[in-house]
Amino acid sequence: MLLVMRPDATQAEIDHVLETISTNGLHADISVGKYRTIIGAVGNEEILVDVAFEAMPGVERLIPVMRPYKFVAKEVQPEGSTIKVGSALVGPGQLTLIAGPCSVETEEQALVSAHAVRDAGATILRGGAFKPRTSPYAFQGLGERGLDLLVECKRQTGLPVVTEVLDARDLERISEVADCLQIGARNMQNFLLLREVGMQQLPVLLKRGFCNTIEELLMSAEYIAKGGNDQIILCERGIRTFEPETRATLDFAALTVVKQLSHLPIVVDPSHAAGRADLVLRLSLGAVAAGADGLMIEVHPNPSQALSDGAQAMPLAEFEGFARHVALVRKAVQDIDR
Ligand code: PEP
Ligand code: MN
Repeated sequence: MLLVMRPDATQAEIDHVLETISTNGLHADISVGKYRTIIGAVGNEEILVDVAFEAMPGVERLIPVMRPYKFVAKEVQPEGSTIKVGSALVGPGQLTLIAGPCSVETEEQALVSAHAVRDAGATILRGGAFKPRTSPYAFQGLGERGLDLLVECKRQTGLPVVTEVLDARDLERISEVADCLQIGARNMQNFLLLREVGMQQLPVLLKRGFCNTIEELLMSAEYIAKGGNDQIILCERGIRTFEPETRATLDFAALTVVKQLSHLPIVVDPSHAAGRADLVLRLSLGAVAAGADGLMIEVHPNPSQALSDGAQAMPLAEFEGFARHVALVRKAVQDIDR
């Protein structure tokens, strides 16, 4: 890290900074300019993370040199990691289709959806049993019963399942059913929950919070990886902006930026970004062109009857055509990274 001293910093203040760096075992590199002294702390700067340099007299500014994450950093696996979710793969060279209802509602709704998405090429089924709803009066998911329905979907279709965990107390039960644990946007910085899933054996789909930066997303992934679980799939699902026409604004640039910074795969959820079904196809085509490793799509056999997120649900009957269009764009862009 670089420590920029104030123009009026005294020699004693400079010496104090130099001493703090060397007592922590790092090398201090001093550069004395006409107006300012700049001190470089060379070595493992992570050791200095809790030193309050900016509170020291004479220090104007601290500039970190290293990225604040290491397990999820690109250098760990420059070719990119591939995550196995049951029989499906998510990673370089794949375009994994994850699809299913927002919430599992009834046996018929769940099974019809699971069969249809599998037949159209989806290789992972999504479906919420425990739902994070803005209103406490809205449908909160079927809970345990929803998990039982997901088991039946798996049994009949063979598809692996991703489902959301809201509460660490449900982890044991959910892990009996899920092939991948979803951490939703609202819980991206629930650090206790991140620590808990970091101790599990199952892969984790970590969604970007709608008010979080790319670096914060990667730091949340770092929590999970630090616990020993590096089977992480990131998900861009739109961020909150001033634009009210859509539920969120899909951050296409995040896909390339994440790939430059991290080895983890990233999928896109255009359904929650758009908040409306009529935009989902175009956002998906854009996401594929922008480098998504997969897409997560909400579908429903009858969106007007859905108990959650009906406005953004793609009618099940349209999913096969959707998958065909996605495959066309994938074909057009698949040589880009070679
Ligand atoms: C979901 O995928 O069902 C969901 C609630 O999404 P998000 O956490 O991105 O809002
Ligand atoms: Mn939803």
